[in-house]
Amino acid sequence: MAEEASPTVIFAAAFVLPVSASLIKNGALLVRSGRIAAIGSLEKLRRDNPGAEVRIFPRHTIIPGAVNAHAHLGFRRGDEPEGGSFSRWMTELISRLPEKAAWTPEAARNSAREAIEAGTTFMAESSLYGECLPQLAESGLAGRVYAEFLPFEFDSPEEAVDFIEEKVRSLREGLPSRVGVEVSVHAPYTVDPESARLAAQRVRERGGLLATHLSESPEEYEFVSEGTGFLADIFARLVQADWEGKGISPVRYAESIELLWPGTIAAHLATGVSEEDIQVLVRTGVAAAHCPRSNEYLGCGVSPVPEMLARGIRVGMGTDGLWSSPSMNLFEEALFAARLHGMSGETGLALATLGGARALGIEREAGSLEAGKWADLTVVEAVPGGTGVSPEMEVLEAAAGGGVVATVVGGGQIYEKSGSGVS
Ligand SMILES: [Zn+2]
Repeated sequence: MAEEASPTVIFAAAFVLPVSASLIKNGALLVRSGRIAAIGSLEKLRRDNPGAEVRIFPRHTIIPGAVNAHAHLGFRRGDEPEGGSFSRWMTELISRLPEKAAWTPEAARNSAREAIEAGTTFMAESSLYGECLPQLAESGLAGRVYAEFLPFEFDSPEEAVDFIEEKVRSLREGLPSRVGVEVSVHAPYTVDPESARLAAQRVRERGGLLATHLSESPEEYEFVSEGTGFLADIFARLVQADWEGKGISPVRYAESIELLWPGTIAAHLATGVSEEDIQVLVRTGVAAAHCPRSNEYLGCGVSPVPEMLARGIRVGMGTDGLWSSPSMNLFEEALFAARLHGMSGETGLALATLGGARALGIEREAGSLEAGKWADLTVVEAVPGGTGVSPEMEVLEAAAGGGVVATVVGGGQIYEKSGSGVS
């Protein structure tokens, strides 16, 4: 009875590109109770389900929604700090934190909206004490907030970690079912080793997940290995703890304080990631979030993503926030990555969808169009064929260039482009 009462909708398009399977011409998805009940040809699904409502997108391709594996919602476009150097950018960011508080909620709402209009269905967001959770929760997106904490605001690592653990518990109350809260250990230069280690240990003991920024900038590399430079000054001023160069890379440092395990996603990995570091990433099973446009803006080098993928490291894409990135369009980020690394459209599209889902540990629920997963879909104005590039590249280019006409999360359409002329 309950089955029959739940609304059943067929989403159909000229093509369906499941990412986990090959392209389906005149394809369709049967959606029931927010999940994909079947996938196949429109003709067959219509015949088997005569009572279902049918939404047809005739000049379009349906793909999985974008999974943003690393973002900050609380930044706005138009007054970002100058790029080119991580230290200059970070200096200005820190100096503007007091004024930022007044507009962070509005920025978070706008960033979420922009992501939705660009076909994002799952958003992994990091913000201080989870401050952007209300805007994520009301946006209609599925996702999670990684709540950052600043241990130097507390008397001891124990007190800081108790606080963030309690904060996560309280933030989890009353949320939409597909919105979660986890912990972020922000970065080596803002969280002292004892607090980082303790937070990771507590998260791991209770089966939680962790995010961190790692090996992002030349400044971070110098700080961790030599104990000198701009970030050593920041650490001394903010954290007010002793710090000596560790003589090892940021990745090996993170491993040494037990930050890296399969429940951790490390953002950036852009500067100085060596073969030895890649071995650490493989050994620990940590996932990576690749943010190439942010890395370029801040002068942070190029992450060795093809090498990481070849070694089986789970990699997703992240837009980062609007103070270091030109847009919240994850397909644009993935297209940029594909061009940067000379990767195929197939790899680019997979990184933006199933790759992100794997990196975040939600691949059984999202990231591709398969029966049983949530119906998280993006409808792109593109009919692949005859242009000399792969269907995946055609659709990725269209989605990156403003071609998203509808976004569906858990079967519910949360965005439709006005004037898109869909039936
Ligand atoms: Zn970030």
